Amino acid sequence: RRGWRKVVTVLEDLEEGCATPVGRLRQVVDAMAVEMHAGLASEGGSKLKMLLTYVHNLPTGMEKGIYYALDLDDTNFRVLRVKLGGQRSTILDHDVERQPIPQHLMTSTTEELFDFIATKLKDFVERQENVSEFSVEETRELGFTFSFPVKQNSSSTGTLLKCTKGFSIEDMVGRDVSQCLQEAMSRNGLNMRVAALVNDTVGTLALGHYHDQDTVASVIFGTGTNACYLERADAIIKCQGLLSTSGGMVVNMEWGNFWSSHLPRTSYDVDLDCESPNPNDQGFEKMISGMYLGDIVRRVVLRMSQESDVFGPVSSRLLVPFILRTPMIAAMHDDDSPNLMEVARILRDTLQIPDVPLNVRKLVVKVCDVVTRRAARLAAAGIVGILKKIGRDRNGGTASSSKAKGGSQSKMRRTVVAVEGGLYTNYTMFREYLNEAMGEILGEDVAEHVVIRDMDDGSGIGAALLAASHSASL
Ligand code: ADP
Repeated sequence: RRGWRKVVTVLEDLEEGCATPVGRLRQVVDAMAVEMHAGLASEGGSKLKMLLTYVHNLPTGMEKGIYYALDLDDTNFRVLRVKLGGQRSTILDHDVERQPIPQHLMTSTTEELFDFIATKLKDFVERQENVSEFSVEETRELGFTFSFPVKQNSSSTGTLLKCTKGFSIEDMVGRDVSQCLQEAMSRNGLNMRVAALVNDTVGTLALGHYHDQDTVASVIFGTGTNACYLERADAIIKCQGLLSTSGGMVVNMEWGNFWSSHLPRTSYDVDLDCESPNPNDQGFEKMISGMYLGDIVRRVVLRMSQESDVFGPVSSRLLVPFILRTPMIAAMHDDDSPNLMEVARILRDTLQIPDVPLNVRKLVVKVCDVVTRRAARLAAAGIVGILKKIGRDRNGGTASSSKAKGGSQSKMRRTVVAVEGGLYTNYTMFREYLNEAMGEILGEDVAEHVVIRDMDDGSGIGAALLAASHSASL
């Protein structure tokens, strides 16, 4: 087949365009810390929104009782019930039920959507509870995880800024979403109070902190990506005066929108962005999250196929956006069979490219590797950016910025970052590259004090924990 040399050139160009030597990663680290500063200094001061959450206290592990959570994203909602025994790290029991949201409700009215959710929640409560657990007049406490852009007014209230993902309920924009839910629960005779309204990253941070008090940040790597962390109140300049300067507050970074000229960007990224429904938006997310990695790989394979015969005639499937999903590139990347049978299967079944010789299959694996390695290393740089902002990236000596708190050379504080999401949990190579890059950027002597901890189901359970810690502090 003709064109092997051309295909190799496409691969070499890709590798060069995606290169992430540690020096460049450190530039991304610095850019992240700078943008965080800017976003905290003034509203609109950075592409990072740095949203206030009004969460000042994270769960300690001492919470007690039964709490509920509702986790609403674009396609599903989950209801959870968590039983806490007051002993750190023991969650006595939790039950989860996941339900799809009927398509017509995603574009109906706020009342219809929330009535539907409230009735399902009520059914769940009635199925779960023993008669004795709650008396008639006793109010249950609920944590509400709502993963859409919200301007919080307190830790339990906030207004929807815009409908995103598959949602299109225009009358909800500008309304207080927890009040909408609260009213629906009352209409449906459910005695429950929204005690916390949280973003999914905040839920993950809460669960992380419940298990381990050294947890200072959380990151989600799923279909999308986002991060939040615990900031000193006096560093949140844009709302000085509103907050007491002692203590801290969790800040929701909305880091998917991070951008820096130091990010290694290829023509595939530019095309993906241009053809997306939100060009110039979510630039970081488009390089690192599960929604996009598969499509970057598809674009590279398409270019290779157009420039050579090594894949046979150009398959029309290769022209279909998002046909190659990230779990498929993970499966190809993880294929350890000597003949790369999984790669052959996906090329044949998904892309309708049959009979691909072994050297070409290897090439496809290499493309997955380059794209995912860049994603994972940039993700690591983002995390270190957060650590740098809060002075947890150094052990005295080497690293730059001033004002290191405490931390003498000998006593480096342990730092935990809670991580959640299908990309991180399921894609082994993404996880390994991320951890490897953390070590490279921080240096091993610092990296040994930084723990990345997988927080399965954090966003839901964490919301229930926040409901607990907030109701306890009332
Ligand atoms: P959410 O859609 O709310 O982010 P998850 O955290 O479960 O939910 O993440 C799902 C995403 O994780 C998928 O869209 C996909 O991109 C990614 N993912 C799921 N399974 C795998 C897998 N086996 N390998 C790689 N990525 C995966």
